[in-house]
Amino acid sequence: MAEQILVIEDEANIAQFLERGLIYEGYRVDVAYDGQSGLSMARDNPPDLVILDWMLPGIDGIEVCRRLRAASEVPVLMLTAKDAVTDRVKGLDAGADDYLVKPFSFEELLARVRALLRRSNTTSRPEILRFADLSLDTGTHRAIRGERAIDLTAKEYELLELFMRNPRQVLTRDIIFDRVWGYDFGGESNIIEVYVRYLRQKTEAENEPRLIHTVRGVGYVLRED
Ligand code: CA
Repeated sequence: MAEQILVIEDEANIAQFLERGLIYEGYRVDVAYDGQSGLSMARDNPPDLVILDWMLPGIDGIEVCRRLRAASEVPVLMLTAKDAVTDRVKGLDAGADDYLVKPFSFEELLARVRALLRRSNTTSRPEILRFADLSLDTGTHRAIRGERAIDLTAKEYELLELFMRNPRQVLTRDIIFDRVWGYDFGGESNIIEVYVRYLRQKTEAENEPRLIHTVRGVGYVLRED
């Protein structure tokens, strides 16, 4: 699944420049224009990385960073127009993992983003996602239904992980395309149906009750009958 980046930046032109560039690079991007909405977006849709401007209206970047840190280990890249040593120390003290002084080149930003994501990917702990009698190990990418172990291909895993992380929520075809196949997917429209069928064949191999339900004309939902 493409990594999710939250950009918290009040300057619309910079925010849009970052959003466009990062989407082009294959990331999923949310943008918040102030600290308060940034914090609620981070809570509602936990990102893999936050790009955070220091100077924000309302709650400033330092305080946003502290609050993000209190709630999660998400890597934070701070953007700042300040370059004084004490300011850098302040940012790092608040829990920022790295910072970039404006103006910066997009290439430089990308390099930092990649480095931070790489670092956090190697340290993030695998977890077991559970729904009904189905569980999914995000470390081994294996599923278990009841007592039965299920091997998944890479795409089957990504699709099932998306369902398991969003139980009982209807996922539209657009969301599934975006999250599992990425923004640049341009292929056949029945690919989701095909993969849902694969997942059903595997998760219902012993006639267990259906978990992945079709919502006609909309998408799919993971729920119990
Ligand atoms: Ca600003």
